[in-house]
Amino acid sequence: RTRGSPAERRRDMDAFAPGFLAVYESLKPSGEQRSKQEQLVDSLARSVRKECPHAQMHLYGSCANSFGTSHSDVDVCLEMETGAESAVEVLVRLADVLRADGFENVEAITGARVPIVRMSDPGSGFSCDICINNLLAVANTRLLKDYARIDERLLQLAFLVKHWAKQRGVNEAYRGTLSSYAYVLMCINFLQLREPRILPCLQAMEPTYTLTVDGTECAYFDRVDQLQGFGAGNKASIGELLWGFFHYWASQHRYKRDVISVRLGKTIRKQEKGWTTRVGGDRHLMCIEDPFETGHDLGRVVDRQTIWIIREEMERAATVLQNDDDPCATLFEPY
Ligand code: ATP
Ligand code: MG
Repeated sequence: RTRGSPAERRRDMDAFAPGFLAVYESLKPSGEQRSKQEQLVDSLARSVRKECPHAQMHLYGSCANSFGTSHSDVDVCLEMETGAESAVEVLVRLADVLRADGFENVEAITGARVPIVRMSDPGSGFSCDICINNLLAVANTRLLKDYARIDERLLQLAFLVKHWAKQRGVNEAYRGTLSSYAYVLMCINFLQLREPRILPCLQAMEPTYTLTVDGTECAYFDRVDQLQGFGAGNKASIGELLWGFFHYWASQHRYKRDVISVRLGKTIRKQEKGWTTRVGGDRHLMCIEDPFETGHDLGRVVDRQTIWIIREEMERAATVLQNDDDPCATLFEPY
């Protein structure tokens, strides 16, 4: 860093680390919530077995990737042969069974990119999404979970960023802002790019785990217990990292030129991916490469209006951290 650059003109962010850590602790699900989730999964498994006795049930998303807050939903994937039937037909039948078994607000959402059954559990209040054979999501859940085990600052940063995004209304992919999954990838990439690095690039290392899903190979180094202390050379506190994250997305990221890639542990050019022109309706205004489905840009939901909403929120966040008297509260004020 050069002297006098904006990165050095900030105030001492370490002072706010205890406040942010307290927010982080308050977001983590309690033991009680976890056991309620387990009960929900058990009763769900009983219902599923009636309709699809051979299905294998996987949890994915934030209930399994360790980035789940107390408000997160439960995401379930059924791995099964659907025979002549389509996944949609299976889901529609499953929805009937779930209704009969007392689950509430059961709804088959079949028009989405990934068809699901959505429902809520009256006992626990949790909502739950069920999909079929979306094994790429199961694989990326595993990758995220393994990254989270390397350095606790990833969990801290991602919980706070997800909470900020939900509070500020920029965590709604169906309305043109970003999914939780996209935000976690942004956090991982940010920590891969610190100097010294706080996270390695697991896909650039010798693979110890490989799963091929529909011709897409998901391979990475998963012996993360061997990587304990990887980021210890970088002492940045959560206060400093949170500020750095928002500062990066407010004023350093080159939106017109770059793609962030967790797969490569760096940013690459849009040109390299052919994401410069609008192909098949994808706008590529903010580019976040999926680590396994590399043709998939998680930012493709962002349009000309929502990109400015996101960027203005990033700027607000950076400014709050920079100047506000009580950033640990102001950052998360509802919009
Ligand atoms: P939340 O705590 O907000 O529920 P989440 O981690 O469950 O967070 P979701 O956005 O609900 O995040 O996504 C659930 C999972 O679905 C992700 O962890 C990921 O595995 C998968 N997923 C979501 N969106 C995409 C996407 N656009 N492309 C590929 N996989 C996705
Ligand atoms: Mg979820």
